Amino acid sequence: MSLIVEGSIFDADGVRPAYVRFEGERITEIGQIGTDSTRGRIRRIRGIVTPPPVNSHTHLGDAVSTREPPPISFREMVGPPNGFKFRLLAAAGPREKREAAGLALARMAEEGIRAVVDFREEGVAGVRMLRRAAQGLGIRVVALGRPLARPIERAELFQLLAIADGVGLASAREESIETRRTVARACRATKKTYALHASEERRERIDDYLDPKPELLVHMTYATRGDFETVRDAGTSVAVCPRSNALFGRRPPLATMEKLGLSVLLGTDNAMLHAPSIWRELEFAYVSSRLSGERVSSDFLARAALVEPWNWLGLPRAARIDPAGAVAPLVLRLPADDPAYQIVTRVTEQVIVRPGRRGRGA
Ligand SMILES: [Zn+2]
Repeated sequence: MSLIVEGSIFDADGVRPAYVRFEGERITEIGQIGTDSTRGRIRRIRGIVTPPPVNSHTHLGDAVSTREPPPISFREMVGPPNGFKFRLLAAAGPREKREAAGLALARMAEEGIRAVVDFREEGVAGVRMLRRAAQGLGIRVVALGRPLARPIERAELFQLLAIADGVGLASAREESIETRRTVARACRATKKTYALHASEERRERIDDYLDPKPELLVHMTYATRGDFETVRDAGTSVAVCPRSNALFGRRPPLATMEKLGLSVLLGTDNAMLHAPSIWRELEFAYVSSRLSGERVSSDFLARAALVEPWNWLGLPRAARIDPAGAVAPLVLRLPADDPAYQIVTRVTEQVIVRPGRRGRGA
């Protein structure tokens, strides 16, 4: 099935007008509009061609609850080990959790997501559940598990790392320096990822969350300019979740992160609080930055969903639209002007075309 998209490309190299020809999922030609080799014989649509988005922070086990969260404090809501969320997880059966996580993943697949970075609680069983839930959906799941025993038990930690892509801890406030060091050392030894939440509820000391050095920090809502400079210079990326922060009356300082040139990734956080839609997250991030008076560019946000995460995952080719591309791109049937602005404000499932796919494919 052939298709030509005339319009623009948004990818790691920026924005440019172009036509892109697809054979099935694969790109076979890219060029200046009006110069394609087909002389009008192939179906053509107007739109924007982009790398597929990544949801860079989720807790998909939480999808088991969809009720409006009770009016309790942040700590009572998601604080380990006995917060509201952990009681919900403990009360739900494994099948119930797997089905809920599977539905959340299927919804993300419908919205074009091709990779997700999940903080999966509940030890080895929690990661196994997530792996089963993701089967056959075409989403790469980066499962950052969390060992249960404290102090850390070596056998459990290495059993976890054998099936997980790394460890995602709550934060340096909840986990001792011994736990963090043991976990980070094991992650390094097995070439896996060590990540944790930081400065979400209040500012934390930078030495606490950068020692040992993680590959990813989540939130950084209360970080200062100086903290961000240190994090940037350490080469650590930051995942932000503006809708989740807003529910608790706070927001990540996106404009500062943009100005300082941080590597920022976008995520949707706890699945019990929001639909895991990266497009809704993008629009909220953009609009709420205007509301706060600290503007962030649409380009910066679109990159946080479509480009930076692929670099962070070590797959920079997936963030480039070219015939040798590593991952099938998305086509968005939207105006080709200002593609980053279209991406952050106008994407709904209805405008997503996945060349070579059935259903809404082309
Ligand atoms: Zn989180």
